[in-house]
Amino acid sequence: MSTSPPNLTHRMPPIDRPTGPNPAVEAANRLYRIDAWGQGFFGINDAGHVVVKPTPTDRSKVDLYDIVRTLDDQGLGTPIILGFSDLLATRIAELHQAFSEAKRTYCYQGLHHPVYPIKANQQKQLVREILAAGQPYGMGLEVGSKPELLAALGQGMETADRMIIGNGFKDKAYVEQVFMAGKLGRTIMLVMESISELDLVMAHAKRFEVRPPLGLRVRLHARASSRWERGSGEEGKFGLNAQELVQAVDRLRERGWLSQFQFLHCHMASQLSDLHGITSGVTELARLYVELRKRGADLRYLDVGGGLGVDYDGTATTREFSVNYDMPKYAAAVVGAIARVCDEADAPHPNIVTEAGRALVAHHSVLLFKARPVRRAAPPPPSRADLRSIRADQRTPPPLRQLIDLWNQQPSGAVMATVDAAQSAYDQALDMFNNGRIDLIQRGLAEQLFALIRRRLHDRSLEEMQQPREPGSAMVHAPDSYLANLSIFQSLPDSWAIGQVFPVLPIHRLHEPPTRLVSLVDLTCDSDGKLDRFPVEGAASHPLPVHDVAPGQDYYLGAFLTGAYQETLGDLHNLFGDPHVVNIKIEDADAWSVQGVVKGDTVGEVLQYVQYDPSQMLRNIIEECEQGVREHRLGAADAQAVQQVFQRGLTGQTYLDG
Ligand code: PLP
Repeated sequence: MSTSPPNLTHRMPPIDRPTGPNPAVEAANRLYRIDAWGQGFFGINDAGHVVVKPTPTDRSKVDLYDIVRTLDDQGLGTPIILGFSDLLATRIAELHQAFSEAKRTYCYQGLHHPVYPIKANQQKQLVREILAAGQPYGMGLEVGSKPELLAALGQGMETADRMIIGNGFKDKAYVEQVFMAGKLGRTIMLVMESISELDLVMAHAKRFEVRPPLGLRVRLHARASSRWERGSGEEGKFGLNAQELVQAVDRLRERGWLSQFQFLHCHMASQLSDLHGITSGVTELARLYVELRKRGADLRYLDVGGGLGVDYDGTATTREFSVNYDMPKYAAAVVGAIARVCDEADAPHPNIVTEAGRALVAHHSVLLFKARPVRRAAPPPPSRADLRSIRADQRTPPPLRQLIDLWNQQPSGAVMATVDAAQSAYDQALDMFNNGRIDLIQRGLAEQLFALIRRRLHDRSLEEMQQPREPGSAMVHAPDSYLANLSIFQSLPDSWAIGQVFPVLPIHRLHEPPTRLVSLVDLTCDSDGKLDRFPVEGAASHPLPVHDVAPGQDYYLGAFLTGAYQETLGDLHNLFGDPHVVNIKIEDADAWSVQGVVKGDTVGEVLQYVQYDPSQMLRNIIEECEQGVREHRLGAADAQAVQQVFQRGLTGQTYLDG
């Protein structure tokens, strides 16, 4: 992977603007729920292209299709990840604004300290942008391992005053690094996950003659409403329960360390979907704070952890990949719960630390890739006269006659019932073929009729989908698949690992109604490498509405809200490597510029990850060529061509070219 310098500002080419609202664009907006999940950052312009705005209220916007075509011309083809630093800055400002409002509402005396958990996305450029944008609010970092700790410490002098929260399991090296950073004047809050960690830290602190501030992580009883809820509640992996907290405080007092215990931490779970659960968890944390103060702890900070969720499917519900609240409601729930408990107990308002990760970074990344049909539409139907004579023939097997009847009947309201009947007749026909009771021609006819019936129902579903409609009526899944030039395992691993939905849509042609409902299959040879659930309006089985693509035509799709947890969780299945990453700055008046480029992996680089040596591989090929020439199996020109092809192969991209 290599980086290259930024380039010049690009201005959008002028668009011929039709006058008045464009109904097709409005229908696309509704169909793909852009306003619902886009939080005002995304929209569609009059050319039918997806645009990105730096803030929901900004007039300036940049055109994704224009960006992807320009970058392609500069040798940065798809798949490509575009990171929009302006969106990061906006989300950080929105978080600050939400907590300021909530503090005003509840006359809250403590401060709000935002901290970014770098596990959400550790990319160097992104972390630097977060620290820069968060500078007015004192944005700190949260780390959960030794590499993350060193990444946070190594950010440079200008961020040396930011708070670092040290979470995760610790060993001697981890605590030594924290102590040494403390000698440099850094503020690192070491959070103990267990009593044994507390003992380890106190023992090493004695050796180094330091007394760092300490935090304890609590295991709340409140169970989070989240896809990761198993990590919360009493069976959670981390933290101390009530009894252990009392034990820890006694131990700190015995050793004369109680004054160092300043910080109480919890993390309920990621992607908390229900506001009510957040209020319960924070109330419990605040009660623990009050009780621990009564036992002599001089606690100053309450860390509510991460979990501020993202509405990936745009439904604003408690579904796994949605949330029933926004940032202001989240902040009000957190601040309100702590204020209430403290005011009742006459305890001082602690400073509130938040570790929101996904909510800050998800929106800023868009993954762009090309797709094209892999299975074509059904062949033209047989003539009615032919079908009539086949139907009338007494030797025609019943499932085939049933398929002819289903094809001849007008589609009725019972779409799913028709699909089921057709599927069952087709399955019976296949059984009969396997038992030698129908021949290849009859099997071919059954196959064709089944494909035609599904196609007709699919077309009707698509038409209905584009109308405003009653929720809940069932849609037929598409017979088609589109091949996406990417690896799900590398670029959208959570869609495979936990069935997460991401908004996906074409980034151009949105002024044309889509004509197909499809699944996306990726380049890997793994049958799990597919996307078949998309947050689109009015689809129970969630296929993706797309346009027809003529041979040789480029068709670009975007996967949105992909900035959190995808890049580093991704793997090298089939040795598809990292795509290019380009950071984009949105300038005034619809212009954009490239702030930085991290080139994707070449074939040679991914081979090195699995311990191959590309230069040795090339030498082996050269030797084989030389031997071929010596044995007169290969001419000199052919030998040279073979070597060049392999050399180019090793320096080329891992994804399909063109
Ligand atoms: N803090 C801790 C301790 C975590 O374990 C996590 C994620 O698992 C986070 C913060 C970030 O959570 P999120 O990205 O959901 O805000």
